[in-house]
Amino acid sequence: MSPETTVTFHTPSTLDEAFALLKEHGDDARVIAGGTALVVMMKQSLVVVDHLVSLASIPGLVGIDVREGAVHIGALTRHRDVETSPIVREHLPFLSDVYGRVATVRIRNSATVGGGLAHADPSQDPPAALMVLDARVRLVSPRGEREVAVAEMFRDYYETVLRSDELIAEVIVPIPSATARTAYLKFLPRNEDDYATVAVAALAEVANGTVQKLRVTLIAAGPTPVRAEAVEAALEGQSPTAEAIRAAADLVADAVDPMDDFRGAPDYKRDMAVVFTRRALERVLLAQG
Ligand SMILES: Cc1cc2nc3c(=O)[nH]c(=O)nc-3n(C[C@H](O)[C@H](O)[C@H](O)COP(=O)(O)OP(=O)(O)OC[C@H]3O[C@@H](n4cnc5c(N)ncnc54)[C@H](O)[C@@H]3O)c2cc1C
Repeated sequence: MSPETTVTFHTPSTLDEAFALLKEHGDDARVIAGGTALVVMMKQSLVVVDHLVSLASIPGLVGIDVREGAVHIGALTRHRDVETSPIVREHLPFLSDVYGRVATVRIRNSATVGGGLAHADPSQDPPAALMVLDARVRLVSPRGEREVAVAEMFRDYYETVLRSDELIAEVIVPIPSATARTAYLKFLPRNEDDYATVAVAALAEVANGTVQKLRVTLIAAGPTPVRAEAVEAALEGQSPTAEAIRAAADLVADAVDPMDDFRGAPDYKRDMAVVFTRRALERVLLAQG
C-alpha cells in the first residue's frame, strides 16, 4: 500500500464470505475488528495491505453467555463490554477487572477480545488473566474449527499459532472454583493508562494449608506472555509460608526475558518481575487458610 493507494474496505455478512475474500486477496488482505492496533500498524507501514475485511457485520461473533461451566465471549465483543458485563462480573470478576485495566475507556470501547489476542503484543493485559484462568480460543477456518489454549497461542512478538485462513470466533473461559483467589498486579510507574512495565496475574487454590493449584503468568516480560511454571511447581503441594513464597518468586528471574525500552532496562524489569510476583503470590496465598 503506497500513500496514494486506496484501501478497499469489505464488509462481509457471513464467515464464508470473509473466508472467500481472504482467499481471493491472500497476503494483500487483513481482517479488521476494532482497528485500534491494525490502523496504527498501517499508519507506521508495519502492515501494508490493499484490502481490509471487517468482521463487524458477521452475526454470532458478539456476546457473552454461560454454557457448561464456562463463560463464552464472542471475538467481536469489546473490552468495555467484558469489563461491564453482569455475567462476567458475576462469574469472573477478576477478568472484568483486568479488561478494565486496558488503556483508556476510549480504546476499550473499540478494542475487541479477538483482535487483542490476534495482535499478540506481549505487553497486553488480558492474556495474563486468560492464561491463569485456563481459557481457550475457538478458531474457525474454511477447513473447520479447533480449540487452542490461550497459553499455547503465542509464538513471538506479534506472532500467534493462527494459520493464515483462521479467525478467532470466541474465547472460552472456565469458571474457576469458588475458593480460587486471583490477583492482577500491573506496575505502572508512568501513568494509569499506560502499558505495564511488568504485570503479574496469579490464581491459587489452597486447601488444608496446602497449595492445590497455582497459575502465574507475566506480561511485558518477554516476547510472549510468560507462564511461570517453575514458580507454580515450587509451591504446588507445599505449605505457602512467606519464606516459600519468597524463594518461589525468585525463580521468575530465570523465566523472563524483558525488552530494553523506555519503560526500563532488562535487569530492572527482571527485578520488578520478582517483586511483583512475590506480591501477587502473597495476595493469593497468604490471605486464605
Ligand atoms: C493508545 C493505545 C493504548 C493501549 N494500551 C493497552 C494496554 O494498556 N493494555 C492492553 O492490553 N492493550 C493496550 N492496547 C492494545 C489494544 O488492546 C489492542 O489495540 C486491541 O485489543 C486490538 O483489538 P482490535 O479489535 O482493535 O484489533 P484490530 O486492530 O482490528 O486487529 C488487530 C489484529 O488482529 C487481527 N484480528 C482482529 N480480529 C481478529 C479475529 N477475530 N481473528 C483473527 N484475527 C483477528 C487483525 O487482522 C490484526 O492483525 C492499546 C492500544 C492503543 C492504540
